[in-house]
Amino acid sequence: MRKKASAGFFYIINKWTALAFCVLFILGVLLATWEVGNIVKIVAQPEKKPIYSVDTEGMTVALGINCAWDNSDIPELLSILEHYNVKASFFVLGSWCDQYPESVRQIAGAGHEIGSHSNSHANLTRLDKEGVLSEIRESCRKIEELTGKAPALFRPPSGAYNSEVIGLIEEEGLYPIQWDCDLIHMKTLKEKLP
Ligand SMILES: [Zn+2]
Repeated sequence: MRKKASAGFFYIINKWTALAFCVLFILGVLLATWEVGNIVKIVAQPEKKPIYSVDTEGMTVALGINCAWDNSDIPELLSILEHYNVKASFFVLGSWCDQYPESVRQIAGAGHEIGSHSNSHANLTRLDKEGVLSEIRESCRKIEELTGKAPALFRPPSGAYNSEVIGLIEEEGLYPIQWDCDLIHMKTLKEKLP
């Protein structure tokens, strides 16, 4: 008799436990589906990247020059480019426009492209959305005022970017431009040459 009662009690516990497990299982499945859905959503959003290079027919180099310090080498640089009949993209800071408006006009006047390198060379990945937009818009406004042409290219300072920064650059109608070879690469390459 005692054994039977014990078996019956055990059975009741088991039934409720089974029910509890069922409920937990269904909740678990629902939660997992929701979580997986969220994860899929996050994964499905591709990380935004700047343009490092583009495919071209034949051997082509796109020359990008950043203007963030003084302007002392600009006249020589322009005459070298003119000598070899080469056009380059100059990425200027908004603050550089303030300091050297004549140089900006001179570069644009020589037929080179003027892109933005931000307003103050701030690390855009450390700014909030408003800060990034202000860096982009301020610099573009200054460039357009000096050259009469709104820039189409934007190069983040120090090449520091994240998906949000690249998204904001694109939303402002600009191409985010990185590089796939810089002076440090060139130096290493030169050292390797016989
Ligand atoms: Zn720079």
